[in-house]
Amino acid sequence: MLSTIKQHIALISVHGDPAIEIGKEEAGGQNVYVRQVGEALAKQGWQVDMFTRKVSPEQPTIVEHSANCRTIRLSAGPEQFVPRDNLFEYLPTFVEQLLKFQQQEGIEYSVVHTNYWLSSWVGMELKKIQPIQLVHTYHSLGAVKYKSVSTIPLIATTRLEVEKKVLEKADRIVATSPQEKEHMRSLVSTKGSIDIIPCGTDIRKFGSVNREAAREKLGIDPNAKVVFYVGRFDRRKGIETVVRAVGKSQMRDQNLKLVIGGGSRPGQSDGIERDRIEKIVGEVGLRDITTFPGRLGDDTLPSYYAAADVCVVPSHYEPFGLVAIEAMASETPVVASDVGGLQYTVVPEETGLLAPPKDDAAFAVAIDRILANPEWAKELGKKARVRVEKQFSWDGVASQLGELYTHLLEEPAKELSSVSA
Ligand code: UDP
Repeated sequence: MLSTIKQHIALISVHGDPAIEIGKEEAGGQNVYVRQVGEALAKQGWQVDMFTRKVSPEQPTIVEHSANCRTIRLSAGPEQFVPRDNLFEYLPTFVEQLLKFQQQEGIEYSVVHTNYWLSSWVGMELKKIQPIQLVHTYHSLGAVKYKSVSTIPLIATTRLEVEKKVLEKADRIVATSPQEKEHMRSLVSTKGSIDIIPCGTDIRKFGSVNREAAREKLGIDPNAKVVFYVGRFDRRKGIETVVRAVGKSQMRDQNLKLVIGGGSRPGQSDGIERDRIEKIVGEVGLRDITTFPGRLGDDTLPSYYAAADVCVVPSHYEPFGLVAIEAMASETPVVASDVGGLQYTVVPEETGLLAPPKDDAAFAVAIDRILANPEWAKELGKKARVRVEKQFSWDGVASQLGELYTHLLEEPAKELSSVSA
């Protein structure tokens, strides 16, 4: 903790509320990132305000997380859940409300760090009228995402324009992996300054339980071979791949178990995906060995990672992929898709294995290699933990961000007179 109080900074995450439960459809890595970065920066002495959109009248407007770190929920658009693709029209109100809050509290932000393209639009609007240093993290790139989806939403053109503009105009872009930076350069623009600062994880929370204790706590057979998935129920997460891979596993008669963790709401997009996955589980004959424990909170998630023999991250694409480093911090080897940030976090043959996305046969081979070689798996797990300790702890990541902000504050902010889109 620094003795002198640093300046006010705003983290903006319009659709990803940092104070909300993680593991539901719209709550995932971005919420975790903003919350963890915010709290770690506050510990370093920054005064951190995190802005998000209020999605229910019952939600408190301000949530104090710790000294110098709070979430502020602004009323912009209906106070109910609105899918992110429909939020753009409410952004001007979000800007107005943010300015009103600043005025009421008499706060000037020297750095505004935006998350996801919607927030970058807000940041660019603020930059037109205030002398701020604008930093942006994409979390997802439209240019990558639209290559892999069958229906392109109406908002796509606007999103692509805003994503290009912020890359060229922000004072600094934070890419969370070299692969994400490469995609920005090849698919978005060659202009603009990009730093690579990864996502992080809590190395005290993950890695605090051993396998035996974790299995006892969760009631999992100490001799079972446990394959674990956790994340949002979203088609792009590739849950179907892990199910089909386990269906093809040569280890099926070896007390194999499949655990699929993550929250869902019946009838909503995540509930629909969960139903689809459950159907596939039935089709490939895995019903008896598969469990769906639902959303996993802080009280059980570290135990699930520790209890698993292998954690599978079968996403079609991932700019970073927090689950991989959480498993690695828990000394659990990872089998992940050979895409994006997973190519950065998982070192093949050292901390886990990579397989082509959607290739369930290749995933089956990789999973079986780990399950069939417990001694090797243990070694992979130990190296994974060392890698996370060295490169991906939140405190280390927040220090790098803090250094970036400090450095930017020594420079004049870029001019940004006309942002449209
Ligand atoms: N998560 C969780 N409980 C769940 C499901 C997910 O805490 O039931 C967390 C998970 O631990 C991780 C985040 O949600 O921190 C997902 O982040 P990731 O980058 O893997 O994927 P995203 O959701 O951003 O696509």
